[in-house]
Amino acid sequence: MSLSCGDVRDAADSSCPPLALPSARVREMLVEAAHWVADYLSGVADRPVTTPRDDAQRRDLAGWPVPATGQPVGEFLAFVDKHVAPFPCGNGHPAFFGWINSAPAPLAVVAELIGAGLNPSNGMGEHAAVDLERAAIAGLADLAGLPAGTGGVLTSGGSMANLLCLAAARSRHLRRTGAEDGPRYAEAHPALVCYQSDQAHMSIAKAARTIGLSAAQLRTVPTDADYRMDVTALRTAICADLDAGLIPFAVVSTAGTTATGAIDPLSAIAQVAAEFGLWHHVDGAFGGLGAAHPDLAGHYAAIGQADSLTVDPHKTLNTPIGIGAALVARPDDLRHAFGLTASYLDGNNAWPWLSEYTVELTRPGGRALAVWAVLHQLGRTGVTALLDHYLTLTSLLRQAIEEHPELEPVAAGPWSVTCFRVRGADDAATAATARRLQERGNVFLATVSTKDGLALRASICSHLTTTDDIDALVQEVTAIGRTPSTAQ
Ligand SMILES: *Cc1c(COP(=O)(O)O)cnc(C)c1O
Repeated sequence: MSLSCGDVRDAADSSCPPLALPSARVREMLVEAAHWVADYLSGVADRPVTTPRDDAQRRDLAGWPVPATGQPVGEFLAFVDKHVAPFPCGNGHPAFFGWINSAPAPLAVVAELIGAGLNPSNGMGEHAAVDLERAAIAGLADLAGLPAGTGGVLTSGGSMANLLCLAAARSRHLRRTGAEDGPRYAEAHPALVCYQSDQAHMSIAKAARTIGLSAAQLRTVPTDADYRMDVTALRTAICADLDAGLIPFAVVSTAGTTATGAIDPLSAIAQVAAEFGLWHHVDGAFGGLGAAHPDLAGHYAAIGQADSLTVDPHKTLNTPIGIGAALVARPDDLRHAFGLTASYLDGNNAWPWLSEYTVELTRPGGRALAVWAVLHQLGRTGVTALLDHYLTLTSLLRQAIEEHPELEPVAAGPWSVTCFRVRGADDAATAATARRLQERGNVFLATVSTKDGLALRASICSHLTTTDDIDALVQEVTAIGRTPSTAQ
């Protein structure tokens, strides 16, 4: 039937369903796309990191109309070539130091293509991809230093993982105090209090809002000079809340803060959590795998006692974007929060479906393939080597900054984030330097607010970044810093 279908569906030909293509054409397009992706990846370093677009260009694309009738499929690649690929986010480039985004591991790109072809839905069923997701979760948990029996799900990213973990924390607390619903719920819920530091990622506040906590129910604890949660202040806040009749239920630590790469004192926080019966969630979207590196492992001695941990494979593991992980010590805590089923889903499930552990029902199975591909390629030693790559480049950058008469360090945690500025630059000049740098397109970094004013922030978490990129970063910043017209 579909053999007669050409590039454009002939509306009059009812034997030819929309979207179907002859298998020879499918093969041809996949080969063409494979060449396109391979060319793109191998040429990425030769192009600008990012290319700014003006408002008109943006409006053109954002307003692109759906054509009245179908267009030839061959034009799709041409469209991408012209309107999308030349204006990348930048994170595929080795000299991208912005935010915490990396280039994709090539094998994981292949895995995502295969995942798209297999197209499993990992919310339901007992097929292979759901068990591969279980293996990916167990592998991540093991690398992170969590005990056997830890479970969880892959998510779209760290923000979603934080949300799932906070929801599980809330649900466990209400369940254990018999306040899951009814009048006790109505009484208890407004009294719940969660704690974070002033360096916590804003996704924690989003998660708190999403599970129905008011702003006042998320207590923000100050940090010390090294951007680590002040545990004495945490204890004081908990005691004050208890005295006021409130119900502390969870504390969120950050292992690898986004702003400066700090690691909260996990052992001391774990102790406080245990003492007051709080759920200890560790946001390790950036630094969740620190236990896998000998230089960082000391900070993670208490990670095995955490109730939950967020890890973002799309950050330090360089999977393609769209992959986080919520790792939970007692997976049933997630299931209590999300384990709703329906008559149209109930089969004779041998094992619970993964949809019972998260808010999503139909959910991509390709994520499991991508994580597995990277873990398979790296092995444990490879994960350590990859983290070591980031840390080694980070110390080279810090050394270059310290030794450079025109640069000054501002903040630097154990993780691979370095905050610095042109010596003596005020906030406006620092912002202007970042803007000029982004416009020039040779390297990319963004700025961050620190306890010591605005700083340039260089995050290193790409397998592609090399010492040449570090040199280029230092050269670009100093060259721009010497141009007085930019400091306005
Ligand atoms: C990046 C990050 C997040 C959010 O993760 P996304 O994958 O961007 O949703 C949460 N917490 C920390 C500490 C992060 O660095």
